[in-house]
Amino acid sequence: MLSDAEMIHYSRQILLPEVEEIGQHRLKQACVLIVGLGGLGCAAAQYLTGAGIGKLLLADGDRLSPSNLPRQPLYSSQHSGQLKAQLSARRLAAQNPHIDILPITEYLRGEGLYEQVSKADLVLDCSDNMASRQAINAACYAHSTALIIGAAMGFSGQFLALNPAHDHGCYRCLYEPEQAPPQGCQHAGVIGPVVAMMGLMQALEGIKYLANTGSVPWGTLHLFDGLKHSWQHYALPRTPQCQICGDR
Ligand SMILES: [Zn+2]
Repeated sequence: MLSDAEMIHYSRQILLPEVEEIGQHRLKQACVLIVGLGGLGCAAAQYLTGAGIGKLLLADGDRLSPSNLPRQPLYSSQHSGQLKAQLSARRLAAQNPHIDILPITEYLRGEGLYEQVSKADLVLDCSDNMASRQAINAACYAHSTALIIGAAMGFSGQFLALNPAHDHGCYRCLYEPEQAPPQGCQHAGVIGPVVAMMGLMQALEGIKYLANTGSVPWGTLHLFDGLKHSWQHYALPRTPQCQICGDR
């Protein structure tokens, strides 16, 4: 089970009647794949590391640029040009010596994506483009792996948790792949705290799912308007003819 050092390290979390030692043990047994170590991934990874997820797979082929720093507090300005997967793995390993952290220094696609998804109990989609989101959604449904998606642009945030074992729709039901991708945040701009909020929600719901406590809002699209501070929630129904989830 847990060592004495781990019991001390996680004591505030183990104190929670919703977690206790059994929940902490479940977190220790879990493997989470985080795709994208930008603003969403930095926020989510720091708190999954803190919570004691036993194994983190950190996938990103991107290198740090100075324009990332306002939203990506895992990194320092002197590390510009270095691989984010390696930088984040180093920082997070220093934060929690009790877990395994594996950097994957490539953009996951095709077979590589399916292989990494097959190792994970949960995938966090922290990517920044629609093609990646569609590919991650398809891979997670192929492996029946739970998927928690975050997104942010401008002052707006999006959060969606998908469980292939449930009857709701998937990301492909929400957006057609041929649908013109919305402008990325490198063109449209983005405000840092909204990105972090979505990443932290991904971490929170992931911890609940893996510790088997509380209820995760599977299949509900949450839209946050940071200018008005308002939320909207929409149930995502399954499209019967969906290529990814429709014939399930
Ligand atoms: Zn679908």
